[in-house]
Amino acid sequence: MRIGDININIKMGDITEEKVDAIVNAANNTLLGGGGVDGAIHKKGGPAILEQCKKHSGCPTGEAKITTAGNLPCKYVIHTVGPMYGRSDSMEEVLLYNAYTNSLKLAAEYNLKSISFPSISTGAYGYPIDEAVEVVKRAIEDFSRNESTIREINLILFSNYNFKIYSDYFE
Ligand code: ADP
Repeated sequence: MRIGDININIKMGDITEEKVDAIVNAANNTLLGGGGVDGAIHKKGGPAILEQCKKHSGCPTGEAKITTAGNLPCKYVIHTVGPMYGRSDSMEEVLLYNAYTNSLKLAAEYNLKSISFPSISTGAYGYPIDEAVEVVKRAIEDFSRNESTIREINLILFSNYNFKIYSDYFE
C-alpha cells in the first residue's frame, strides 16, 4: 500500500536479513544490547555496532541514534527505545509515536530511502500489538505529510499473529 509518497510493505520475517538503507533496532536505554530483536541484530551484525553504540552513551525513550550495520546486509542501524507498557504514566502512546517518528527523521537526515522496522515495544516491553499498530500507522501518516527522501517503509513481523493484526489494520 501507499501512504503519500511512501510505499508501505508489511512482511513476515527476520529484520536482520533486510537489504535496505536502515533497519531499526528496538533497543533499551543503555544501547548496550539486550534480548529479542536487539540481541539478534548485535549477534549477526558483530562488534562494530556495539562499539559505536557505546559512543552514544545511551538513548532516552522515544529518541533514536544511528550506527554502522557491521556485517548486516543493510547500510545503517537506527537504534530507538520504545516505552515499557504500563510504566510511563500513560505516556506510552506518545513515546511509541516518538520512537517511530524520530527514527524516520534520522533516516531522512541521512538522505536514506528505505527503512525496515520491527514491532517496537510489543515483545519484552509488553505493548499490546493491536494498540501499537494504531500508533505505527498514525506516525507514518504524519511523517509522510512532510517532504523527505523516504520512499519505502517495511514493517517486519516475527509471528503470524502480529502479521495478521498489521495486515488487517493497514488495509
Ligand atoms: P521490545 O523490548 O521493544 O518489546 P523485543 O525485541 O522484545 O522488543 O520485541 C519486539 C518485537 O520484535 C516482537 O514482536 C518480537 O517478536 C520481534 N522480533 C524478535 N526478533 C526479531 C527479528 N529477528 N526480526 C524481526 N522481529 C523480531
